[in-house]
Parts: sequence; C-alpha cells; structure tokens
Amino acid sequence: MVRAAIAAAAAADPRDVPVGAVVFDSTGRELARAANAREALGDPTAHAEVLALRRAAAVNGDGWRLEGATLAVTLEPCTMCAGALVLSRVSRLVFGAWEPKTGAVGSLWDVVRDRRLNHRPEVRGGILEPDCAALLNAFFHTQR
Ligand SMILES: [Zn+2]
Repeated sequence: MVRAAIAAAAAADPRDVPVGAVVFDSTGRELARAANAREALGDPTAHAEVLALRRAAAVNGDGWRLEGATLAVTLEPCTMCAGALVLSRVSRLVFGAWEPKTGAVGSLWDVVRDRRLNHRPEVRGGILEPDCAALLNAFFHTQR
C-alpha cells in the first residue's frame, strides 16, 4: 500500500515536496490517490492526505465516513492530516518515512492515538522507509 503511495507521489508538481497518499477500502480496492499540491494549487491545506481523503469520500458509497478504509502515505502525517484522518474515521494508517520535525502520529505528537478520542485508527509507520526517504532526499537535493 505504501508502494502505491510512492507511485502517487511521483505525480506531484516539480515545485511540490513529493508526498503521496492513497486510500483503500476495506477490501483493499483503491478508492483515490493524490500527491501533495500545496504549490500547484496555492493552497496551504492541499496535502496529499487531505486531497486523497476528499476524493475517496466523493467516490465512497458511504459518503464521508471512511470506516474500514486504510490511508497509505509516504511520510508521517502532520497535525492537520492526522486530524483529518480521525474525522474521516479511517480504520488504518500506514506510512513510510518518519517526520521528526512535524510528525503528528508518533514523532512530535500522537494525535490519532489520543485516548480522549473515541475513534483511534490503527497505525504502522516506517514501511518502505528507505524508499520514501529517498524520494524526499532527491527533492531537497535538487532544491539546493
Ligand atoms: Zn499534512
């Protein structure tokens, strides 16, 4: 699933940090994918996860409730995206690279597993981490 998110990241505008996200339904069928498009859309909230969740909700038979779904992303989500995935009721989150500076799913905060929330998705991080980190390193290398 993270492999699909890596493929989704490749579609990012060259100006955007290549982060990709894919939403799968409970049967493992892909509902939607997106790449970070903050620069391309001039939208501070256009992170890959938010775009993929919006698209998945639009094609999902059950509307905005993505219960049973899995969100796969190449990078540990930020606070906004962690909040969005709690609100969308996604059941599982799998991600690649840890993000020690802004990560909100275990690194800096742990928004999705806060015991005060009644919906807490299952989380697995560090999947295909070298591949996901390489994607970002290549981007930041060309920015210098
Ligand atoms: Zn985010």
